[in-house]
Amino acid sequence: MKIVKFEYSLFGINTYIVFDPESKECVIIDPGMINDEERAAMQSFIAKNGLTVTNIINTHLHIDHAIGNAWAKKMFDVPTKANVEDSPLGERMKQQAAMFGIPANVADVSIDIPLREGDEIPVGKDKLKVIHVPGHSPGSIALYDATDGFLISGDALFANSIGRTDLPGGSHSQLIKSIKDKLFTLPGDTVVYPGHGGPTTISHEIRHNPFLR
Ligand SMILES: [Zn+2]
Repeated sequence: MKIVKFEYSLFGINTYIVFDPESKECVIIDPGMINDEERAAMQSFIAKNGLTVTNIINTHLHIDHAIGNAWAKKMFDVPTKANVEDSPLGERMKQQAAMFGIPANVADVSIDIPLREGDEIPVGKDKLKVIHVPGHSPGSIALYDATDGFLISGDALFANSIGRTDLPGGSHSQLIKSIKDKLFTLPGDTVVYPGHGGPTTISHEIRHNPFLR
């Protein structure tokens, strides 16, 4: 599978499209587009490459990762998949907007299909495996493509950093445990695509991440 990153303006959120070049199926991960220009960038990529969107997937339901959900759902008419432990966050989008001073008119996000640890989401003939990595939020998940060796880590693991744990439902000790037990046990050459910032690898983070020494 191939992965393409769209970096959007709200907190520098990375929205990813993962697609199978043969079947042209794709999923949108963490829709963070907030204006016409940002929406057009994704729409034209999908049209130009003849892709068919099959799902919206949220690594978690913080506002920067889900502010584009309503638009994407309407545009592509596909279900939203996320972990139900983040449902309370999805039902509080307006409070999240107020908390971060975002003036947008934000719609709440409801989960159509709940994801659990070990679930597999098909994309063409390949698949993304769901890894539950609570700590940044209770329902945070990472998405692993074992065939092509990459991981979409949401806000659990960043290059040389980890997600904040001071927001409601966050837990530092739980996040450290999630990363050590579930992400650092993946092959070292797995490429990690985080929710913010540039990519890294599992082996780099095991050796150099100062929060996980
Ligand atoms: Zn977050």
